[in-house]
Amino acid sequence: AKSNLISSLKGSKPSKRVVVIGGGLSGLACAKYLVDSGHKPIVLEARRVLGGKVSAWQSPDGSWVETGLHIFFGAYPNMMNLFSELGLHDRLQWKPHRMTFAMPKKPGTFTSFEFPPNVPAPFNMAAAILSNNEMLGLVEKIQMVPGLLPMLLEGQDFIDAQDELSVDEFMSKYGMPESVKEEIFIAMGKALDFMDPDKLSMSVILTAMNRFINEADGSQTAFLDGNQPDRLCAPMREYIEERGGEVRTGVPVREILTGEGGRVEGLSTDGGMVEGDYYVSAMPVDVMKKLLPKTWSEMPFFTQINELEGVPVINIQIWFDRKLPALDGLCFSRSPLLSVYADMSVCCEEYYDEDKSMLELVFAPATKAAGAERNWISESDEDILEATLKELENVFPEDVKDEGGAKVEKYTVVRTPRSVYATTPGRNKFRPSQKTPISNFVLAGDWSSQKFLGSMEGAVLAGKLAAEVVASGVVDEEGGWKEGGIGKEGGRGMEGGVG
Ligand code: FAD
Repeated sequence: AKSNLISSLKGSKPSKRVVVIGGGLSGLACAKYLVDSGHKPIVLEARRVLGGKVSAWQSPDGSWVETGLHIFFGAYPNMMNLFSELGLHDRLQWKPHRMTFAMPKKPGTFTSFEFPPNVPAPFNMAAAILSNNEMLGLVEKIQMVPGLLPMLLEGQDFIDAQDELSVDEFMSKYGMPESVKEEIFIAMGKALDFMDPDKLSMSVILTAMNRFINEADGSQTAFLDGNQPDRLCAPMREYIEERGGEVRTGVPVREILTGEGGRVEGLSTDGGMVEGDYYVSAMPVDVMKKLLPKTWSEMPFFTQINELEGVPVINIQIWFDRKLPALDGLCFSRSPLLSVYADMSVCCEEYYDEDKSMLELVFAPATKAAGAERNWISESDEDILEATLKELENVFPEDVKDEGGAKVEKYTVVRTPRSVYATTPGRNKFRPSQKTPISNFVLAGDWSSQKFLGSMEGAVLAGKLAAEVVASGVVDEEGGWKEGGIGKEGGRGMEGGVG
């Protein structure tokens, strides 16, 4: 049915020229689905490198410096479809199905939730939680039930209704013990949105748990087998260009020019005006706010995005002169300044090293405002490294220490002052739909309305939904087929939002 829809779109309607602003995963996914439905996308990416928040570049010695440690989940249906459609499925390195946590009170030790194979959801998760007694006792596990049961019974509606509550507020409302926060929710919040639970909306934790509870492999993780620009963005670009689209890098859009009724007339770039029949913004929310044309600035649909703002985060890579005790997979560090980390010399084929470890770590929260003691995002690289090593002493006491410890051969610090939108309580209602009040302007980007929050999956889904708005708009305009579309899982963006 899906391919019929696409070919009916392709066959009967004239191809439209669609200018997509931003070559992150959302813009590239949008362009991919536009060529699939017979249109001609032109992606304009400001930077020389594609990928946005998944971008990476090579240092002079050839090692890859990444913007962020990126993990794929089994619960990413649109991302998995994209890999299949591009013929890249074998580039995902799936890890044993477990969630591993460092044990701060027992330095150098780890514990994990082990998901038994061949057990359907939600029983595999129940087994994983019940069989681990190192983090929560039976009584605490039972005390979690009243808060989690409505999610199981009512699903997404219940989750959406919790968006106004912080994790702390939700926990006290449902009588969850503090230990659940200390042991699990802090780690989850820092990993999912780089924030501590007093600032974070409970809907974030529940959204992730709901996916993990409902899908047997939802919480299983995979690493891409190498750097994202080469291993994922380049094949997307190739796919788009082979089918008549264009991807231009080093082309920042300076202004969105509008005419009658606020319709877009063109985009101003350093190389001149770029025009199309449709325009899709796949830029981050903070850039969209800056580029918003004056004629749109009073429209409620657009003023709502002032309520969204990117959260700061720091990514650190440290190359050691020896192997640290290695885990093949993601680990929650459960330390005050660090979120998740992985030893990429073990987890990722391109970075494999028999003899030396390369840890990639997410440093969060990264500002004072997000609950940290110092405003880390503006501290020096040296101070950030020093603070990271101090926390790693507790994770690897035998190997990261002042005397006789592993030596740091080199390190990189990449700051993203405004990354995914900060999911403080009550943000969901301000996320705009892909369809906008401007008839030839469509929104994509992980922050636009879709149920996967700010994530790679959310970015791909939003791009797909944006392509669908364009494709169905073209048909609408000419009096043809009006519903359905390119085929997406978990969408609910399109026409939602305020405005
Ligand atoms: P972006 O990637 O921000 O792309 C927007 C693009 O627009 C950029 O390339 C930018 O250069 C371009 N642009 C901006 N302004 C202009 C302009 N004026 N003209 C032209 N182009 C412009 N997600 C997960 O699912 N799993 C993870 O493990 C994970 N870990 C992360 C770790 C870190 C440290 C970070 C920072 C993010 C992580 N994410 C993770 C989130 C994920 O990276 C993002 O949700 C996703 O990549 C966003 O894609 P996007 O295309 O919506 O936006």
